[in-house]
Amino acid sequence: MKFMKILVIEDDRIVRTLVKHVLEKEGHEVSIAERGESGEQIALEEEFDLIILDLGLPDKNGLDVCRTLRENKMDSPILILSAYQNTDTKVTGLNIGADDYLTKPFDNKELLARIDAITRRAKKGEKPNNVFECGELKIDLLNRDFFVGDNKVLLTNNEFNLISYFMKNPNRVLEKDELTQNVWDINFNTNTNFLNVYISYLRKKIEEHTSINYIQTVRKRGFKLQYQSVKEEA
Ligand code: CA
Repeated sequence: MKFMKILVIEDDRIVRTLVKHVLEKEGHEVSIAERGESGEQIALEEEFDLIILDLGLPDKNGLDVCRTLRENKMDSPILILSAYQNTDTKVTGLNIGADDYLTKPFDNKELLARIDAITRRAKKGEKPNNVFECGELKIDLLNRDFFVGDNKVLLTNNEFNLISYFMKNPNRVLEKDELTQNVWDINFNTNTNFLNVYISYLRKKIEEHTSINYIQTVRKRGFKLQYQSVKEEA
């Protein structure tokens, strides 16, 4: 593991001291914030390789800190450290842009293993991303906004889920089964026209703002979101 700059946002002195000690022993440079507001400020002013964030902070909830940082385009990995065992809290944390979640009490080895995994994923670009762009199409999963060029396009829930799956898997043939299972989370009889209907709604809304046919039909197989990245064109 290479040396990293890490910010620890944690109000509990014992946990803070322990985490700092463990990380510094590994050669990392550790900054500390004891409150949510000050943590946000430091995280937005300086650049860190990792942020370790407690949820129960005296002035605000760590989930709100996480949300604020992501809304301000702070893209360093975030590891949530919390006493809450609650799965909902964990899922919310991951949905709003945290990279992993570690429940207290934890042991030092587990902490280091998680950090190692997060930074390896971040390096490979597998960090959870909330905004995806494919040509003129842009989707913001956090705010559930969809744009074609500069135009914000209103979508129903199903349409939004469908286009977000396409945009996470661009330039790849998506079979009808795969789409229905991942978008609606159930097994549909794919002989029904159900999926085709939603695809046609989506296409219509996209085509109001562009002449490019993004969602292409791949005969007998399914659909593909086709676009050329700027790099490929250059
Ligand atoms: Ca706390």
